Amino acid sequence: MVRRASRGGVVVIPLCDPERCAGAGCTATVCVGAGVPSNDELFERSAVVIPGGVNSSIRAFKSVGGRPYLVARAEGARIWDVEGSEYIDLVQSYGAVILGHAHPAITAAVTEAAAGGTSYGAPTPREMKLAETIADRVRSCEQVRFMNSGTEATSTAVRLARGYTGRDRVVIFHGNFHGATDALLAAGGSGVATLGLPGTAGVPNGAVAETMVVPYNVVPALDETIACVMVEPVAANMGVVAPQPGFLDGLRRECDRVGAVLVFDEVITGFRLGEGGAQAKYDVTPDLTTFGKVIGGGLPIGAVGGRREIMETLSPLGPVFHAGTLSGNPIATAAGLAALDLLDGDVYIELMARARHLSSLLRDACASAGFPARFPVVGTLLGMVCGDVATPIDFDGAKQTDEAAYARFFHAMLDEGVAMAPGAYEAIFVGAAHTDAVIDEIAERAHRAAAVAAGTAPT
Ligand SMILES: *Cc1c(COP(=O)(O)O)cnc(C)c1O
Repeated sequence: MVRRASRGGVVVIPLCDPERCAGAGCTATVCVGAGVPSNDELFERSAVVIPGGVNSSIRAFKSVGGRPYLVARAEGARIWDVEGSEYIDLVQSYGAVILGHAHPAITAAVTEAAAGGTSYGAPTPREMKLAETIADRVRSCEQVRFMNSGTEATSTAVRLARGYTGRDRVVIFHGNFHGATDALLAAGGSGVATLGLPGTAGVPNGAVAETMVVPYNVVPALDETIACVMVEPVAANMGVVAPQPGFLDGLRRECDRVGAVLVFDEVITGFRLGEGGAQAKYDVTPDLTTFGKVIGGGLPIGAVGGRREIMETLSPLGPVFHAGTLSGNPIATAAGLAALDLLDGDVYIELMARARHLSSLLRDACASAGFPARFPVVGTLLGMVCGDVATPIDFDGAKQTDEAAYARFFHAMLDEGVAMAPGAYEAIFVGAAHTDAVIDEIAERAHRAAAVAAGTAPT
């Protein structure tokens, strides 16, 4: 039996006997029937029915140790766990909620869309409008096709490039991440070009046999067997690594020379580095672009955009099959439209200034605490490298980061009430909700956290 009650404007759906929890001081907005829930209890209970207790492996804290907090709710720059602890959030759904959590415009758009039906299995004007908005702002995108995740976007882009060129081989770069697509989950050796080996159990050799993994920031010599080169134009899954001068336009030239399709994976950088993405910032035009994260305003979405001639190779016009029951979903596209509507050029200028400001405050905080760390900034993207190491330009460099030191800093920050991503290779996501006051607060807490992580904190 489900009874509804309202607490502070939030609808509470008790799954247990409300009498049992009454008076227990429970503040959860979703009652799970455990009385006052603790993170540990709920995580253990989750782990019984969900492998590892998580639905995306990074969330499990495996690389930093400890157990994750379970989020009860979030607003702007802040999240609250089920125990009521408040954190300043630098994860921001790995960049998907650039405007901050529960932004009123997005919440309103989602609510309005949901009231009109949650999925139809027929085209809608919102999909048209979102495609027009993307095509308008991203120069290389004459057409756009929607799907439900960045993973689907990259797998569709690879299929499309292969179908368009009639070739099989794909080139990717060490340390770039393109989601959980078999052909793109290839392990690379260190520092040299390698033929793909499965990067995880469950991927057959055959799935990566046509995948080449080469070092980032070096233009590989291609030949006429290559269907596409897929690249993160700014690498944001090995910390934040900038493309070196000549790299992206070198890829463009090399692809043109052999007739390969150049794919920019802008799942993170799209509508984060600026209205036109990394391709506008670096003035290099890819043939195809993959999107996700920001374009869904925090709802599940993915997209492939590109030159009409290539895009029209997709079914139903062309021979490359693509379909999706929930693709172009009315709620996701409504949220995306609301987000993109608010993301004009001024927002990015502000975000760039904030990323730079936070970088320098964090650098000072760590330096004065005797905790060596760098905070590389590329536009609006901010990364962290722990230890006395050079600013990375490739995966070998990125791997010099002191992962144990990151884990100490991560936990010290969490204790101070700042939630960073539980992995040393994730970006620090600065968004519109991180006002100057919030950034100052982060820096102040980081100063104490760095002292704890360095072992120099007064005891
Ligand atoms: C997050 C990400 C993906 C995968 O997107 P999902 O929506 O998580 O499937 C692909 N490429 C890049 C560059 C990403 O950062």
